[in-house]
Amino acid sequence: MSAKVSGPNALSSYAERFQSLHTDQHEGRPRPHKAVMLLAVLSLADNGQLTENRIFYGPELLELFKRFFAVVRGATDQCTPWNPFFYMKREGFWRLHAHPGQEGALAGMGGPRGVGSLMANVAYASLDGELFGLIAQTACRETLRTAIIDRYFSAQRKALVGLCGEEREIGRVRENWREEQYQVGRGEADGAPEIVRSAAFARTVRQAYDYRCAACGLRFLYEGITIIDAAHLIPFSETRDDSPQNGISLCKNHHWLMDCHLMSPGPGRSGDYAQPIWHVKTGLNSRIEGQREVLALKNELVIVPADARLRPKKEALDRRMELLAEAC
Ligand SMILES: [Zn+2]
Repeated sequence: MSAKVSGPNALSSYAERFQSLHTDQHEGRPRPHKAVMLLAVLSLADNGQLTENRIFYGPELLELFKRFFAVVRGATDQCTPWNPFFYMKREGFWRLHAHPGQEGALAGMGGPRGVGSLMANVAYASLDGELFGLIAQTACRETLRTAIIDRYFSAQRKALVGLCGEEREIGRVRENWREEQYQVGRGEADGAPEIVRSAAFARTVRQAYDYRCAACGLRFLYEGITIIDAAHLIPFSETRDDSPQNGISLCKNHHWLMDCHLMSPGPGRSGDYAQPIWHVKTGLNSRIEGQREVLALKNELVIVPADARLRPKKEALDRRMELLAEAC
């Protein structure tokens, strides 16, 4: 069990524990994995993705882990985020929770053989309640982050601080969008640089579609890698519209087909914009391999986000349909 900490000393106590992680050593330096996982968790909170005390081994966490790991990794460090996610339990403030029925299997696990065995048994991790309460506060996150960087990554401080700042900005933009019920205007109204808005758009759209292609349903996730794109419906070059309702989540093939104006999401037969369907270019030939598969999408339902606020907006679908009709 974790040591009990309380009151004003709690923050400094956790900062000390973050600086005393049990890690393997290699050539005189601690392996970075656990410290990187904690940085990722802190940024997850910055991004508004840690509203309850459940840390999921999912794409939002893993994308952050990968970004930080790329900055600090040594030549022999392997990107194995499942290891710190599992072994962090030895630190006392991190608990693993089994999927229903897997409690015995989790209790008997000496360690994960890979991501498969982790995900088969572990539903999520949670933090000490007091630590979770601290991490909910911006100033405390900063103190803990500084403690980690001071102890493990002083040589990469500048790059990490820059990355953390960018992640905070992405989180701020997404939080603003949530507060505005995603009724956001286009462009630079929130003052964020384009790289931040672009990342906020991509993450919001992909998450809204559960990382799934809205045409074929393909979903592929591996350790923070997804092959699903967040595509603009009204091309970004036309209106610089990064609002999530101008986005759709597509695999590479369907993204390219849409951008070549060979297919488009558009209203259903009765003009229903709430449940769009796929329209394809006239002139495609069902006897020709490849074109046949595109034609098969015609009139199929577009896979839309469960959150209706994030579904494609009418003007975006209309513009896509114009582009489909205009294409030669
Ligand atoms: Zn697809």
